[in-house]
Amino acid sequence: MRVLILGGTAEARALAEHLVGRPDVDVVSSLAGRVADPRRPPGAVRIGGFDGVDGLAAYVSGTHVGVVVDATHPFAARMTEHAVEACRRVGVPLLAIRRPGWAAGPGDAWWRVPDVAAAAARVAAAPPGVVLLTIGRRGLAAFADDDRHHFVIRSVDPPDDATPLPARHSIVRARGPFAPDDERALFTARGVTLLVAKDSGGDATAAKLVAARELGVPVVLVDRPPVPPGLVVLSPDEARRRLATLSTG
Ligand code: NAP
Repeated sequence: MRVLILGGTAEARALAEHLVGRPDVDVVSSLAGRVADPRRPPGAVRIGGFDGVDGLAAYVSGTHVGVVVDATHPFAARMTEHAVEACRRVGVPLLAIRRPGWAAGPGDAWWRVPDVAAAAARVAAAPPGVVLLTIGRRGLAAFADDDRHHFVIRSVDPPDDATPLPARHSIVRARGPFAPDDERALFTARGVTLLVAKDSGGDATAAKLVAARELGVPVVLVDRPPVPPGLVVLSPDEARRRLATLSTG
């Protein structure tokens, strides 16, 4: 059975590792091609968009995919919507893997906001200071008109030239996982007074929240977009079990 993994996450790579080499499964991982030098999962990899729902549906039926696993990032909402619609159209099962979101503990000062625009509004209302933005490159434009803060923009690749950026900013290029000591050092060296992050969940990027807690830095945390109705969301272990059942019939 051919399994198409919609990837771009550690969970997707782990699933590909688990499936590659199994005689009953032919695995293809799909990456969007957003980062210049992506971490490639083992096994076959295709890179680039499908050209919307029609393209994905044509790919799934044309390459005889037997099951699609949406293991994209919790904020990759458009890809998930496309996967739901394309799989429904061609009658191929779709499973989704999502890591759980983060939960605040004692000492955390988090403001949860529904989207990046709301995060920018929350930042605009905060006293002037240094804002660490860890939301990736998309969404940076929401902060472009804010000249009251200095923004430290952390991303894997630099923002492209067309993206409007705030007047006062610096760019830190880095790719997780991040260690707590390194995050503490970054906060201290840059004098960070406010952190903006997405509720991505997982261990790889949680250290910034630990640093924020320890250093008394408040956090503006962007909530996840909703999961489309009817999407079967499983833990990585459950998805592996379900795939084993599907491939053996
Ligand atoms: P998105 O907004 O949901 O998707 C936008 C378009 O990108 C999709 O319509 C599709 O293009 C293409 N695309 C997205 N994921 C794809 C995949 N795995 N394979 C092939 N095409 C894909 O996605 P996004 O938020 O930009 O995320 C892009 C990729 O980065 C995803 O693989 C995601 O797992 C990863 N990622 C995202 C974030 C984040 O914060 N959003 C963080 C870490 C990693 P077509 O319509 O042309 O098919």
